[in-house]
Amino acid sequence: MKIIVSHDIDHLSVREHIFKDLIIQKYLVWSLLELIKKKISLKIFSRKIIRLFKKDSWNNLGKLLKFDQVNGVDSTFFVAVNNGKGLSYSLNQAKTAINLIKKYDFDVGVHGICFDNYEEMRREYEVFKEISNLNNFGIRMHYLRLNQETLENLAKIGYLFDTTILSDNLEQEYKIDELTEIPFHIMDGNLLGPRQNLTLEEAKEKTMKLSERAEKENKKYVALLFHQRYFSEEFPQYKNWYFWLIDYCRERKYEFVNYKKFITDTRCPITITLKPTQVS
Ligand SMILES: [Zn+2]
Repeated sequence: MKIIVSHDIDHLSVREHIFKDLIIQKYLVWSLLELIKKKISLKIFSRKIIRLFKKDSWNNLGKLLKFDQVNGVDSTFFVAVNNGKGLSYSLNQAKTAINLIKKYDFDVGVHGICFDNYEEMRREYEVFKEISNLNNFGIRMHYLRLNQETLENLAKIGYLFDTTILSDNLEQEYKIDELTEIPFHIMDGNLLGPRQNLTLEEAKEKTMKLSERAEKENKKYVALLFHQRYFSEEFPQYKNWYFWLIDYCRERKYEFVNYKKFITDTRCPITITLKPTQVS
């Protein structure tokens, strides 16, 4: 079975949010609630506050790229080239991130902000194409936002794939014109987010159950999302879940593929024809 790991990039620094949105304020409130509910210790809470003042907090991109590379996790990263809904990094920051991801030779696509205006959606596609120098790439919408026309419009614009649909039911890929819709199945925040009450062990259990079900039902793939922001000491549960997950997939001998490779493999399975050995 194939495992598609992806990382949405919602934040690249703390600073980008100052006077632009309410992300820092919300983060403080949620962290305080987690402390009160005893979901995090005072030590972790203090770490979260202290790290708000560190220059490289909320980035973790370099660390995650290294980790994935060392562990053979061929992942896909989604970077936004527009602002909205708490996503506030600049185009320059996006460009630096895209270049770094390309340097590591990982797949990179668009983290879409606009989902309900064709022209604006097209603009995001063109901007990404220009700053990434790529012709073929996919997309996942920020906050998984979609309306009736979004997928058709993404197909019309020329995206290779979309992976915005979160399916608990292990739904597999399908085509919408030239676009391949690749539903994904596990999202970090749905297991360990502040609205959930799962412990790390429960999150692992839920992940294992889903992968066992996928195996039993002979599914081609399971796709999952781990936000790069959580690859940090401030989010020990998320980070430990990701470490565990990669180990688990390796133990089960699953094959890590990125979205682009998944499509290539699915579309044209490589057939190797061996010439018969000549006997003289
Ligand atoms: Zn997002």
